[in-house]
Amino acid sequence: MTAVAIGGFHLERVADIEPVALPTKRGFPDLTPELVRTYLAELGPKFINPETLDLFISFHTWIIRRGDRVILVDLCIGDHKDRPNRPDWHRRSSDFLDKLARAGVKPEDVDAVLCTHLHADHVGWNTKLENGRWVPTFPNARYLMAEAEFNHWKARHAREGDAMNHGSFVDSVLPVVTSGQADMVSTSHRVVHDVDSGVHLEGMPGHTPGTVLIHVEDGAQHGVFTGDILHHPFQLACPDMHSKYCEDPALSAKNRLALCERYADTKSRILTAHFPDPSTGFIERDGGRFRFRFDPA
Ligand SMILES: [Zn+2]
Repeated sequence: MTAVAIGGFHLERVADIEPVALPTKRGFPDLTPELVRTYLAELGPKFINPETLDLFISFHTWIIRRGDRVILVDLCIGDHKDRPNRPDWHRRSSDFLDKLARAGVKPEDVDAVLCTHLHADHVGWNTKLENGRWVPTFPNARYLMAEAEFNHWKARHAREGDAMNHGSFVDSVLPVVTSGQADMVSTSHRVVHDVDSGVHLEGMPGHTPGTVLIHVEDGAQHGVFTGDILHHPFQLACPDMHSKYCEDPALSAKNRLALCERYADTKSRILTAHFPDPSTGFIERDGGRFRFRFDPA
């Protein structure tokens, strides 16, 4: 497990599934084998499989803790979900909640759940199966969702039906709305606000319409959860390359570049959703492009 501090905030990473081999063509249609070999030479076999050229990624949740307060960021895949199009996500039975307990977090301890966006791989542990029903995994938590993001998936669900987004809107989002635990918030919502510290959202659309960055600040120290604005470290070398999962490819590219420009060569720690362990580090300029300097594992 990776743990870092942002001032008085303690952040810890808990993996749901890792490593996962993402076939290049499935994730990045424009990424040629020649380009992947270039990135393999730069990044090494921890990040790209030298034989298959698959990209290694991770699905993990972040715990934000300060005193007794516990916030979870991005809830991964989950257990027992019907995901027939993704065999590695389909009807799982995992030890994720045990891992969370080993990190000192019991489900009833969680005060808030934040998802950078509502794709199926970010909402799975929102709910668990109990007596044949999907119920909130965290009984005392408020589940904060950007209203623009929720409304986007609500409209798609109305048009496309229950199987949309791998069925996750129905089994992992709507149950926390029905239970009364969801709060629809603006994309600039302040989750925690003290005099010189806090946790707040910032809208950065493109990957999805309501994607948010989640900032953690304490005095001069700053970290930012970047969700799926970045999927893999190779994108630092070519921020204009979008993933197949980006709903607005041009806007996602524009905002990914803006993110790199904003944080390059700064002390802002980047906390990613899919980079392999330790999944955190800093953006650096590298000639006319960027690279990711990982924290020590
Ligand atoms: Zn994702």
